[in-house]
Amino acid sequence: MKELRGRGVSGGIAVGKIFFLEKTDKKIIRRKVDNVRAELERLSASADAYLDRLMALKVKTYAQAGEDSSMIFETHSLMLMDPDFMGEIENMIQSQSVNAEYAVKLTGDRLAESLRLSDSEYMRERAADVEDITDGLIDTLAGRRTSLPAGEKFIVAAEDLSPGETASFDRDSVLAFITKYGSATSHTSILARTMGIPAIVGVDDMDPGWDGRTACADGNSGAVYIDPDRATVKAAEEKLRLQKENDLRLSSLIGRPSVTAEGRKIMLFANITTPADIDAVLSNDAEGIGLFRSEFMYMDRRSLPSEEELFSVYSSIAARMGGKPVIIRTLDIGADKKAPGIDLGEEENPALGLRAIRLCLKRRDIFKTQLRAIYRASLKGNIYIMLPMITTKKELEDSLAIAGGVRAELKADGIEFKDVPVGIMIETPSAALISDELAELADFFSVGTNDLTQYTLACDRQNPALSDLYDPSETSVLRLIKLAADNIHKKGKWIGVCGEAAADRELLEIFMSMGIDELSVSPKRVLYVRDALGKAAGRSSLEKYTL
Ligand code: PEP
Ligand code: MG
Repeated sequence: MKELRGRGVSGGIAVGKIFFLEKTDKKIIRRKVDNVRAELERLSASADAYLDRLMALKVKTYAQAGEDSSMIFETHSLMLMDPDFMGEIENMIQSQSVNAEYAVKLTGDRLAESLRLSDSEYMRERAADVEDITDGLIDTLAGRRTSLPAGEKFIVAAEDLSPGETASFDRDSVLAFITKYGSATSHTSILARTMGIPAIVGVDDMDPGWDGRTACADGNSGAVYIDPDRATVKAAEEKLRLQKENDLRLSSLIGRPSVTAEGRKIMLFANITTPADIDAVLSNDAEGIGLFRSEFMYMDRRSLPSEEELFSVYSSIAARMGGKPVIIRTLDIGADKKAPGIDLGEEENPALGLRAIRLCLKRRDIFKTQLRAIYRASLKGNIYIMLPMITTKKELEDSLAIAGGVRAELKADGIEFKDVPVGIMIETPSAALISDELAELADFFSVGTNDLTQYTLACDRQNPALSDLYDPSETSVLRLIKLAADNIHKKGKWIGVCGEAAADRELLEIFMSMGIDELSVSPKRVLYVRDALGKAAGRSSLEKYTL
C-alpha cells in the first residue's frame, strides 16, 4: 500500500479502480505508412468507435437535457458519416501513403476553412462542428481516452483537470477525483462539490501506472491510498457508514423551512452547472437555484449552442423546478473557464481580462442569443437573470439596455415572455464600493465570495501556494460584503451569497448578522446549511471581527 497526501476539496470517501487520464501531446505529425490498407482499416474502425460514442452521448444528453441539446451529437454523427468528408480522407491516405491522423487533420481544416468563407451564416457556424469531429476522430485514432468505459465506476486520476473536462464526466460513473494541481476554489473543485463527488487536489507523484489499480480516496482528510490494505478499506467503509448515518439525520430537515435560531427566514438555494444537477437539487430540498453557472454549456465544444438549444435547457430546468426561483447567471467565460468556440485572444492576466460581462458586452451576438433564450423560457417557470463580474455602473446600464433591446425584439416578433428580475453578482471590490448606485438599477444581488476574495486580497484563487492568504473571512472581504448588504437593504433590495463561503459554518453567523437574505450552496450542502442555520443566531462570535 502506498499512502499519499493531498488536500480534500470535496468531502466523501471512495474505494475503487483508478482510471488514469493521461494528457498526451496533441501535435499531429505527417508520417509515411507502408501498409495503406491497414491504415484505411484503422481509420474505419476508429470512425465506427467514435460514432458509437457520439450515439451514446446523444442518448444520455437527450435524457438529461432534452432533444434540442442532444441534436449536436446527431449533427456530428451525420457529418462523420458524410461520404465526401470520409472519402477525401481515404483518398489522401491512399494517394499520399500518409497516416490517418494527418489526413483527418488536413481534410478537416480545409473543410472548416471553406465553410468559414460561406455566404450562409448557417454554413459558417458548421465550421466549428467540423473542428469538433476532427478533434474527436483524431483522439480516437490516437487511442486517447476521453471518456470512461461504460458500465463501471472509477476514481479518476490526472495531473490536472480543466473545468470543462470535469463537467464532461458522467457523474454516475465517477467515484472520486484525484489531481496534482487545483485549489479549493478552482472551478474544478467547485464542480466536484456540485456533482457531490469526493475530490483531492495537490497529490504529488501522480503515476500513470496506477491505471486499473485500486485506491481509497478520502475527500475529507485528503488521504489517498494506492492498493489499500484490508484495514484501510475497512476503516473507509466505517467512515462511509457514519457519513450515511449523518445524511439520514439531515434528511429529517427535508420539507422544513430554513430559519435562524432567532426565527429569521432565509432563502436557501442550490448552485448548479448542468441540468443533470437538478435531481440532487430536488432530493436535497433546495428552495430554488441561486446560481446556474450557464457557461458550462459552452465549454466542451467549439460550436456555440444555438438559441433553440439554450431555450430547451432553460425551459426544462425551469419546468422541473416548478414555481421555485431559477437564477440563471449569464455567461462567465474567461480566466480558467475557456470555451473553445469563443476566442479571447492572448491574455497576460486572464483573471483580470476579458471575462464574464466584459466579454458579453464585446460579443453582443453571443449575449443576445443567451438573453433571448432566457426570456423565451421565462414562461416555463420562475426565472431570474444574474450578471457576473460587474465592475462599473456603465456595465450594468449597458447590459440592461441590451436586455431591453432583446425584449423589444421579442415583442416585435410576437414572442411572449414574462417580466424577469435582473440582478448582479458582487464579486469585485468595485461593485461592493458602488453598491449604493448599483442598487438603484439591479433587482437583486448575490455575493460571489470566490472572486470577491481573489480580487480584494489580490490573491489568485487557483494558486495552492497562496491558500493561507486566500481567506473569505479576512476583515477586508467581510467589510465589503457588509457595506454592500447595508447599501442594498437601504434601497429595499435583497442580497444573497452564492460563493463557496455560503456553506462555511463559521461564516454563517457573520452573514446572518449582516442580514443576508439568501444563501446558495452545492446541492449536497443544502441540508447541512439548514441544520447550521437553525443554530446560528447572527450575534455571537462577532467580537473577533471589527466590521
Ligand atoms: C464566485 O466568484 O463566488 C462565484 C460564485 O462565481 P464563480 O465561482 O463561478 O466564479
Ligand atoms: Mg465568480
